[in-house]
Amino acid sequence: AHTVHRITSGQVVIDLQSAVKELVENSLDAGSTAIEVRFQNYGLKSIEVIDNGSGIAPRDYEGIALKHYTSKLSSFEDVSRIVTFGFRGEALSSLCALSDGLTIATATASEAPMGTVLEIDGNGRLKSQKAKVARQRGTTVTVTNLFRPLPVRRKELERNIKREYQKALTILHAYALVPCSKENKGVRLTVTNQIENGRKVAQLKTDGTLSLRASAIALWGTRALDNVTDLDLSFEVETEKSVLRRLNQGSADSPTTSVRVQGLVSKFVIGAGRTTNDRQYFFVNGRPFNAGKASIVQKAVNEVYRTFNVNQAPFVIADFVLPTHACDINVSPDKRTIFLHSENNFVLALKVGYASDLVDL
Ligand code: ADP
Ligand code: MG
Repeated sequence: AHTVHRITSGQVVIDLQSAVKELVENSLDAGSTAIEVRFQNYGLKSIEVIDNGSGIAPRDYEGIALKHYTSKLSSFEDVSRIVTFGFRGEALSSLCALSDGLTIATATASEAPMGTVLEIDGNGRLKSQKAKVARQRGTTVTVTNLFRPLPVRRKELERNIKREYQKALTILHAYALVPCSKENKGVRLTVTNQIENGRKVAQLKTDGTLSLRASAIALWGTRALDNVTDLDLSFEVETEKSVLRRLNQGSADSPTTSVRVQGLVSKFVIGAGRTTNDRQYFFVNGRPFNAGKASIVQKAVNEVYRTFNVNQAPFVIADFVLPTHACDINVSPDKRTIFLHSENNFVLALKVGYASDLVDL
């Protein structure tokens, strides 16, 4: 059973980037407004995520890192309402199984400024609990020696650590690019890397109050925003329920729900794009998804752009704002691939809104 657990764990946390993503998502789920990510030796030695969120309630200590333990669902019904937020209770248990274990320091509002330090073993069991340590409200999760229980994977991580670290930074850039819309608040994000000789390198610092354009400039400089325009469009998608009804009953009526997409995109003129698709960030309700990987939506955007702008990829930051009750998104097991129904409507809206004088509709 132990082995099985380790294999399935590998699907939630597949690399350094997903480890970081899961930890930061937990901090966001806890309502944090400030998050600090500390890498030691690019994450090889440890990854630490410090937040000012709700903290973990004492009644949750025992179970916190057991498989399928989650405090985020009260009924099965809720599953259909959730988009990219954590809800499977797999991240912490995976991280335990795939490392030398976790250390968690946490305090809720009622315990602060005193908190508790929890030591969790590789099986997700609470090994020790030390009360009365200084801790403001929030949680610090430290993962030590990622992938050490899997020597081959560990070797691979060591060999490619610079690249893996860059991938982790990419997802952190995505969090730094929220706010994408009025609906989402930004987060104060600080990222540092302490390398072997003790030197600490500041990687990223955002204060969470800038406009999207200003955040992008802070990351990449003013020139990066040349030829970039605001993205703001809406399109209709069928709701999950109506898709099912259409398939089951052949019912012609298909109620739709409106999805708004906001962000930034390269102007649809020749030469305005980039030679690589490295600056393409997609969000659902302010949560990044599928960073750095080709998703259906990402392919669609590139396709529209490519129709008249040979060999170029747009700079694009796009937040899909959806009502979660009309959940039109299916989440894959790794929570990183999202399928949009009526994706053609999005492509059409993009053409009509941004390329209508250039492409033949
Ligand atoms: P999930 O996010 O799917 O619920 P996780 O394994 O990621 O599962 O986390 C398990 C539980 O641990 C969460 O449901 C939450 O109660 C708690 N938790 C994890 N990280 C934090 C955090 N930074 N702040 C508060 N609670 C947390
Ligand atoms: Mg989670």
